[in-house]
Amino acid sequence: MPVAVDERPTLRSQVLVVGAGPVGAILALELAHHGVACTVVERSVTAARHPGLDLLSGRGMELLRRLGLADLVRRHGVPADSAADLQWRRGLDDPPVLISHSAPFLDSAPSLDDGSVPVERQQRVSGTELARQLRAVLRGHPLVDLREGWTFTGLRAEAGGAVVNVIETRTGIRHAVQAQHVAGCDGAQSTVRRCLDVPMQPLGPAGQHCSVFFRSADPCLPAGERSLSTIIVGGLTTVSRSGGDTWVGHLPVPSDEPVTTDPVSMLRGRLGLGLEVPEILGVTQWDDSLAVATAYRSGPVYLVGEAAHRFHPVSDLADTSIGDAVDLGWKLAAVISGWGGPELLASYECERRPCALIDRELLTRELETRRRFNRLVTAGAGREFLAGVLRQETHFGSRLAGRYDTSPIIWYDDEAADPLRPTTTRPGGRAPAVRLRDGTHLFDRLGPALTLVDLTPGGAGRPLVDAANERGIPVTHLHLTDPAARAVWDRPLVLVRPDQHIAWRAGAPTGPTGPDRSAGSGGTAGGVGSADSFNPAGFAAAGGWHAVLDLVLGFRPAARRQDHVNA
Ligand SMILES: Cc1cc2nc3c(=O)[nH]c(=O)nc-3n(C[C@H](O)[C@H](O)[C@H](O)COP(=O)(O)OP(=O)(O)OC[C@H]3O[C@@H](n4cnc5c(N)ncnc54)[C@H](O)[C@@H]3O)c2cc1C
Repeated sequence: MPVAVDERPTLRSQVLVVGAGPVGAILALELAHHGVACTVVERSVTAARHPGLDLLSGRGMELLRRLGLADLVRRHGVPADSAADLQWRRGLDDPPVLISHSAPFLDSAPSLDDGSVPVERQQRVSGTELARQLRAVLRGHPLVDLREGWTFTGLRAEAGGAVVNVIETRTGIRHAVQAQHVAGCDGAQSTVRRCLDVPMQPLGPAGQHCSVFFRSADPCLPAGERSLSTIIVGGLTTVSRSGGDTWVGHLPVPSDEPVTTDPVSMLRGRLGLGLEVPEILGVTQWDDSLAVATAYRSGPVYLVGEAAHRFHPVSDLADTSIGDAVDLGWKLAAVISGWGGPELLASYECERRPCALIDRELLTRELETRRRFNRLVTAGAGREFLAGVLRQETHFGSRLAGRYDTSPIIWYDDEAADPLRPTTTRPGGRAPAVRLRDGTHLFDRLGPALTLVDLTPGGAGRPLVDAANERGIPVTHLHLTDPAARAVWDRPLVLVRPDQHIAWRAGAPTGPTGPDRSAGSGGTAGGVGSADSFNPAGFAAAGGWHAVLDLVLGFRPAARRQDHVNA
């Protein structure tokens, strides 16, 4: 483990972010959103040339919208009417066997009014462009001290934080930075992770891959079709970039074949055509073992994004990484500002690592379908048979932010999941997003920190908000009488976290389905006895509300999950 040289720290920072890729940038801007300053060290002075990620889902965009970044991303992405389709083909000169719409497209289905649809549509955007734009925002932000050309080389944990070593690449000058918290957002080959000696846990043996970023207007690649995103053919995944004539081909490379083979020959060999490739823009190699770090935290140091989980590049969603950055960002801000307790930061790993493990399983299934498709094509399977297999196997359903089902900082209640109504106010899930009668989005009315969404006729939740604010806990009181909200939000009092997940709720079920839903659920929430008798002022005076705040903000160690159901 590289150890910091014994220098006096020349810089001090509450949070040191290592890496200004998409994840480091979003983390820094999440901190700034809560008024917390940070230092970001980034070894490169320009964004990487290889495009990396290609698509932000509606949920990813929804999280960026909170930070005021959605419009910026749209301006630099592919036009909004460009869908993200997946074409399954036996060969480039053969019509598609099946065209699947990817998950984000379904996310955006306008017909759903159950609160599950993100307030933003998916956006295709090159990772390079995203990183470039986010970095420009960091440069101009008064709460972000961005040091470009500074490379992290080692760290030493010490009382109250860590001393971090960085080197200025251009001059060779070394610096020691003292930070209370360090966030390793330095990508798949994370030096921070290696310094912590945190191993990656792979799923199965690694296979070699090569990604070729190229420009080609060859007519056998249907460039220019806005709806086209990805073609699966001959074991190769070819992704059009930015709707133009740039492409990325992800090729599996057999173990007996050198990865150094001429990339153009490799592409042509796999596509079976004399593909015209006038320009190779970049080549990267990677192994395809989907790996998740065994720990996300060691003392004051955290792993975030690709540093914490290395997924297959052909996965087209960056939600897992964006979710990490937002989660850690608001929790660090809460602790630094005093409205988060000592247990809050431990919940980062408890909430985010399971998400990576679950996403990895979904991805594994998707990748196996791609491999099976190739094997079936090679075996001579006909079009109809192939289409039938794909229809059965392709699942591009969205996890839509997932749920936190085992979090120590969610006040769960005893209502079971309703498979017919996936979007409810059940604690742990993403809050339902609805458009209000005046045309605004409920999500845009949530405060930056916590929000008590109050659907009682007279705004009866006010004493809870006052009691929280008196403790220095920023809670916005959002009193709504809007019928659209009442139709979907099935409890009158709901506490929403900065990341739009539900932390707690109380009161009798509301809305059109209210009376039926209360039957059998006990009609209780938040440990307040009969729902009808729920009295916010009394709840606050009796200490129940403070117990809720203590738990959801990590001021007390979590009991077992069941212990805070109707406690
Ligand atoms: C070939 C390829 C194709 C991909 N395709 C897709 C895709 O289609 N869809 C998708 O969702 N994802 C894709 N990815 C993954 C995508 O790039 C990541 O999801 C995304 O970039 C994660 O962002 P990050 O900020 O965690 O890491 P990165 O984007 O890797 O950013 C890490 C940053 O840390 C900096 N850094 C590293 N080490 C140090 C250090 N020691 N000191 C200071 N700074 C440091 C780097 O310069 C970089 O700016 C692909 C990746 C590759 C390699």
